[in-house]
Amino acid sequence: LRGKVCILGAFNVDIVAWVHRFPRGGESLLAQRSSLGPGGKGANQAMAASKAGAQVHFVAKVGKDQFSQFAFDHLASSGIHSFRLYQSEREPTGNALIYVSQDDGENMIAIYSGANKTLSSDEIASMSPELASSNVLLVQLENNFDATLNAMKLARALGVQVIMNPAPFSPDILGCIDLIDIITPNETEASLLSGVEITDLESARAAALAIVARGARRVIITMGSHGALIYDNQQFQHIPAFPALSVDTTGAGDAFNGALAAAIADGQTLAQAATFASAFASLAVEREGASNMPAYQQVISRLALR
Ligand code: ATP
Repeated sequence: LRGKVCILGAFNVDIVAWVHRFPRGGESLLAQRSSLGPGGKGANQAMAASKAGAQVHFVAKVGKDQFSQFAFDHLASSGIHSFRLYQSEREPTGNALIYVSQDDGENMIAIYSGANKTLSSDEIASMSPELASSNVLLVQLENNFDATLNAMKLARALGVQVIMNPAPFSPDILGCIDLIDIITPNETEASLLSGVEITDLESARAAALAIVARGARRVIITMGSHGALIYDNQQFQHIPAFPALSVDTTGAGDAFNGALAAAIADGQTLAQAATFASAFASLAVEREGASNMPAYQQVISRLALR
């Protein structure tokens, strides 16, 4: 793919323990295994966009602690074209403590955002040169909102398309929908954005229309194994999910958004880009780990199945 994607977002260290069942209050139990790895929607989406073939510039903020070196080492060896890591003097690197129950695959997560919520307006302003040479800015809601808002305003002033993955949902987003070119809520976020409870494709259509009534231009509602619903240019299109032997669906949204941004930066239409992103995400759910993304050639092979 040709095209450059600038991604602003969170970097977290994910500490995962696989347990037979979740511990109860006051209880200690032995985990079956554990891992420590990179996470955060921004970092995962940067990984996805890069694997999908885009030139990626990733901007994040970490602490001044052992995990900041981990962040740097991960990004330096990730294949991501370039990155800028700011460091907070006071807050630690963001982290997520995750239990995964081996009985049913359910998870239980506590996230501490730390440095991710401390981006200053100067740090955002210094994204200008990288943003100016990008086709797309991709953002989520894991940073302090004023920073995300400033980045979106900067992108628009520079004529760069803005893709917003409104996760985790925050009502802040309602005040700035007009700055967004493509908004990509999942069903939960789309319900919160629209006030319409999504139970099927019909209610998803109603939710998309309500989101447009709130000022959105192009909407993609992702619906897990039920695929994605696009609303663009007053028309709906449903993109079915590609069949997958789902192993670990955490990070499906990150895979989808990163790949979508890469395809939009390449100049693809929204329907083409969402199909590419669906193929990419279906391969990602077959891999364990939220930041474990497939390679471009695998996506091309899967696309050929449709
Ligand atoms: P998560 O929060 O688990 O990372 P999400 O809720 O943000 O994910 P989803 O809507 O679950 O995002 O998934 C995004 C896209 O990934 C879907 O639109 C679909 O294309 C693809 N996808 C998700 N789950 C599956 C699956 N089981 N099989 C095939 N494709 C899937």
